[in-house]
Amino acid sequence: MKLLILPGDGIGPEITDATCAALGALDRRFGLGFDMVHRDIGLKAHADMGSTMPDAVMAEIAETEATILGPTDTYAYPPESEGGITPSKAVRTTFDLYGNIRPSRTRPGVPGMAKEMDLVVARENTEGFYADRNMFMGNAEFMPTPEVALAVRKITTHGSRRIAKVAFDLARTRRKKVTVVHKANVLKVTDGLFLREAKSMGEDYPDVEIEEVIIDAMAALLIRRPETFDVVLTTNMYGDILSDECAELSGGLGFGPSINAGDDHAIAQAAHGSAPDIAGQDIANPTALMLSATMLLKWIAARHGNNQLAAAAAHMENAVDHALGQPATQTKDIGGPLGTQAFGEAVALAIENLEE
Ligand code: ATP
Repeated sequence: MKLLILPGDGIGPEITDATCAALGALDRRFGLGFDMVHRDIGLKAHADMGSTMPDAVMAEIAETEATILGPTDTYAYPPESEGGITPSKAVRTTFDLYGNIRPSRTRPGVPGMAKEMDLVVARENTEGFYADRNMFMGNAEFMPTPEVALAVRKITTHGSRRIAKVAFDLARTRRKKVTVVHKANVLKVTDGLFLREAKSMGEDYPDVEIEEVIIDAMAALLIRRPETFDVVLTTNMYGDILSDECAELSGGLGFGPSINAGDDHAIAQAAHGSAPDIAGQDIANPTALMLSATMLLKWIAARHGNNQLAAAAAHMENAVDHALGQPATQTKDIGGPLGTQAFGEAVALAIENLEE
């Protein structure tokens, strides 16, 4: 099975190396036949090939089932006309990866602000406020005069319904509750449509409880009582912001995994960015990318009914939890002694030695 590894910028190469160390151990233990192929994207690819997301890489993603996308430093990219293509945007729009699934939970031994939390943010991933990608042609952010800046937010019935379905299906496999987060008291038309479609989808899931919470209240309630949420269904930018809050509540940005999933394709990607401030110092926490990889393996396993791959993914997640649970093998961001590479080795060792 081919795994396409795109290390990206900033801490990307370090956290992908640690993730690959864990995946290599998983391959040896479960005989999965992984073929890990690395390709440059981001600033390195721009320096070598003139594009931060080369066409050849996009073509390779199209024909590869498992892609692991590292974080990218899009702030530092040149304009699109000079090859500065945002990789997240390129993959999400080209492969119609409309669902960004971002779980957050408290983990044994990890000091987080939340006492107890186990939730998943189901974030719409292709429209909303994202002006660089929500139009068929052109950019939805523009300046009619030098003193006036405007942005257009897109919410569609189609986009709302399909992410709502993802959320309700997910809730059925969990604690059967969906919290729809919106601002329909102000954005009556756009968020009103999102809420209407979420509620309409909910009618097909009478076994799943549905509640509505306004985005600003949600920001507060996540801190007050995070344990009461199960699946959080929301639009693109609210989901981006809330999922960082959830990751932080669970221990830090280094603990927020995600997959970008469509009907035929999914890509693993940590919820955090490229953290240029700590790049190259061997102090980044690779947990988010490791857990993103396990989510991708589970997604592929479910599509093919591959129980061995599902068991391997669960084993890797246990190994990550095992390493995080021991003071001697915790990462530096939570006060432990291990750098990025050593933590990758600790997880690989746990994969080798832990019982299934
Ligand atoms: P982007 O806009 O690309 O998502 P951002 O501005 O949200 O990026 P991040 O790169 O996600 O910022 O990170 C913010 C800060 O959190 C970093 O500067 C870093 O200090 C910390 N951080 C992020 N990811 C990790 C990690 N994996 N391990 C340790 N610290 C991290």
